[in-house]
Amino acid sequence: MNSSTLDRFSEKVLQIVRANGIGVFSLSAADNRLYPQTIRNGSADISVQTVDPIDMEDETELASFAWRALNHEVHQVAEEPVVLSGHQLPPPIMILPIIWSREPIEEGEETLRRAVGLMLLWNKRDHDRFNADDHTLADTLSAQAAALLVEEQLAEFEDIQAAFATVPIGLMLVNTAERVVVANQASRSILAQTTLTGKTISEVDYQNQLAGVLDDARNGRTVQSAFVSPSGINFIANAQLTNDGQIILAFSSSPINQDAEELVGQVAHELRTPLTVIQGNLQTVEALFEGDLQEGDAELINEFVGTCLLQASRMYRMIDETLNLSRIHVGKELELEIREFDLIDAVNQVLLELEDRLNRHTLVVEMPDQLPMEGDRGKIISIIDNYLKNSAKYADPGTTITLRVQPLNGDVTISVQDQGIGIPPEAIERIGREAGFRTDVSKSQAGGIGLGMVYTRRVIDAHGGVMGIESELGVGSTFSATLPLKQVAESKD
Ligand code: ADP
Repeated sequence: MNSSTLDRFSEKVLQIVRANGIGVFSLSAADNRLYPQTIRNGSADISVQTVDPIDMEDETELASFAWRALNHEVHQVAEEPVVLSGHQLPPPIMILPIIWSREPIEEGEETLRRAVGLMLLWNKRDHDRFNADDHTLADTLSAQAAALLVEEQLAEFEDIQAAFATVPIGLMLVNTAERVVVANQASRSILAQTTLTGKTISEVDYQNQLAGVLDDARNGRTVQSAFVSPSGINFIANAQLTNDGQIILAFSSSPINQDAEELVGQVAHELRTPLTVIQGNLQTVEALFEGDLQEGDAELINEFVGTCLLQASRMYRMIDETLNLSRIHVGKELELEIREFDLIDAVNQVLLELEDRLNRHTLVVEMPDQLPMEGDRGKIISIIDNYLKNSAKYADPGTTITLRVQPLNGDVTISVQDQGIGIPPEAIERIGREAGFRTDVSKSQAGGIGLGMVYTRRVIDAHGGVMGIESELGVGSTFSATLPLKQVAESKD
């Protein structure tokens, strides 16, 4: 998990609440144990490696503190030493739940709340006790810890939700006199009719789209035809003749919607991570301002605000990418905003933004100190961002990801090499050319919708560049973009 981010975060928490020790544990939904993610301790020699997971069914004092904190969502304070894996933690000890919550995104949705971990703070400096302010600050900080812990758990959770999502299918049976014999609720809502049974198709049809479909079916052809509902949603209408001359008419969700739905779902999911981080950071800054500012706070606030700005620019780009994808979807060209910028500076920005995704891999970066180029800075960042995110997604933690920036004869090649699952030779051609295409190995590995590379290829093409993919199944892949350093000026009217 995001260990270095969590480590730095823990360091900050210790400064803010002025304690000597902190432990952040993540709650595993699989076995209900608390796994140590980071442990910092001013004096004693305990670390993540020397601490066992806390099993809440154990009969230790710590286990029962943890159980109460998580089940009743309350802070606990121990005034006596408590034992953690054989180490005595000096009092006072604050034990607090890490709760992740999300405000409703859609109307009618409830606020989601889940316990995702536990935070222990011990040994307040100067032999002090934890006061009310400390508790309030700790709460705010635990919301931030939630953002850090939840990213991975969220992915798993969303997968489960997605598996339960149903595809609404409208079904109706139409007799030889073209009257509806039976129809289900979905078809009533698709056709925007309160009742269908007994009505003729021409009465309920919208803009005469179904007449031809029924004609074709009657002539023995199995028909599939696009159907746009009165509320503007795209469906596929399928019609099939039965043995007794009736017609089964079925409406299924059109792939056009599915792409859009998945895209919206994925974007919403991805936007949540930076947003949660921004929210947590701002809350902490707010809490710091509410108390008496102390020495060193300005620096902390600066750092929190810096993280917000970085995450905000990541969100901005994600939204931009989505808007551009939908433009591509309706056949429009990408518009570039060409200017001169330093490519190395842009690369460093992506590396910072993606730190939490990349820190479980060994990252090797080979690039010059600076490299001025012309292009659409935001979109070129998207290329690198997409390559890096895919490498992190399709290669195991612990393997090496190598990012290279190599200028040569007026061009620059940006490449990202991983030691991941690889791509079968026959699939290489299809990546980035067919919207929604995913290799079989990748489908079993990670969630994705096969649009990132379509966008990436378009961005590279629009810059007059070339996308390169070299890969060996089970060994790894290298994705590259060779781009001209200078754009040819287009004559403008
Ligand atoms: P996705 O959202 O599915 O990752 P992309 O458009 O980014 O969509 O990638 C399309 C497909 O290309 C992926 O589903 C995967 O099959 C393959 N792919 C992309 N990058 C890699 C990589 N680094 N290693 C292996 N396969 C990859």
